[in-house]
Amino acid sequence: MKQKKAYKYRFYPSDEQKRILAQTFGCCRYVYNWALRERTDAYYQQGERLSYEGTAQRLVTLKKQEETIWLNEVSSVALQQSLRHLDKAFRNFFEGRADYPTFKKKRHQQSATYASNAFTWDGHTLMLAKMDAPLSIVWHRPLPGGYQPGSVTISKDEAERYFVSLLLEEDIKPLEVTPKMVGLDLGLKSMVITSDGQTYGNPKFFAKEEKKLAAAQRRHAKKKKGSKNRAKARLKVARIHKKIADRRRDYQQQLSTRIIRENQVVCVESLQVKNMVRNHCLAKAISDVGWSEFVRQLEYKAAWYGRHLVKIDKWYPSSKRCFDCGHILDSLTLDVRSWACPECGVVHDRDINAAKNILAVGLTVAACGEAVRPGAVKAKPGMPQRNRKASQ
Ligand SMILES: [Zn+2]
Repeated sequence: MKQKKAYKYRFYPSDEQKRILAQTFGCCRYVYNWALRERTDAYYQQGERLSYEGTAQRLVTLKKQEETIWLNEVSSVALQQSLRHLDKAFRNFFEGRADYPTFKKKRHQQSATYASNAFTWDGHTLMLAKMDAPLSIVWHRPLPGGYQPGSVTISKDEAERYFVSLLLEEDIKPLEVTPKMVGLDLGLKSMVITSDGQTYGNPKFFAKEEKKLAAAQRRHAKKKKGSKNRAKARLKVARIHKKIADRRRDYQQQLSTRIIRENQVVCVESLQVKNMVRNHCLAKAISDVGWSEFVRQLEYKAAWYGRHLVKIDKWYPSSKRCFDCGHILDSLTLDVRSWACPECGVVHDRDINAAKNILAVGLTVAACGEAVRPGAVKAKPGMPQRNRKASQ
């Protein structure tokens, strides 16, 4: 089965390449923001839904106008790709997966995508349109041979590092079927707790870096606005931020791969459900562990390897329900780490009990063949329990 897989590497551009890229990023950002305004205005003023094709036609006119003639100096393919990115952002919005698209800012990460007609790849070197030398890429892991990248995305992050991401359509063999199934709960003390009692990833892992980050932020705040030293301090803050983000992503990648490899069915709660337990002091801990990114990784890896990810999109009392007898507590405050069921007396670890319930409801959902979409899950509290009792 063909699956899209992106390979990302750091590269070090020459001064000339930096100049071309800065110009390309600027033009892509301009076109994205311009098209966002066009589409929004079209809707408000004419009640019209402007499509990708509509914006592409208008871009042709825009590039002919005197005041935006400089758009012709960069790769036209990269500009069209900006329109595609915007189109995707709108689709995500219309289908309820994302907020309304927002304007791109110069201070944030910059990127430009080159479709296959705007670069050449000979298996070793990558040459972008409008450049006369290949990119100097650090191949920290090999790129699978024998593939032609479908597109290439160049990005520059807030810490001023450059990356290239090559998108391949690869043949990925599904893993051998295993009978193992698991439910995952997001914890506060640990990132992930499994229904078989394993815990992974402590957010305190980053405590040291976070101290460093706080110190760098204080130094930045003290510098005079608009000064060179302030700019330097800001870069330092950005670098620590990125370092923490990189480590977290590496950890999540390893963990999601491992869970998908080991299990045939993986059941998780969606973030909408997670949001219901969010409160002020917990917001940081929850955003820190990056649940939505983790679930996204599980989702695409499940597709690659022929596994099944069941997302539970409807509220279900996973923490408050006794897995053993189905009794539901009236309340369970967040500081309670373990509790004894008043009905059957079993003592539960809060998170493991929740993960077990997530697995049970996930299997019910999967067995009923319900579409796993918001509002579509009809599993009821206690349902797996009743089924089990009936079969005993
Ligand atoms: Zn019980």
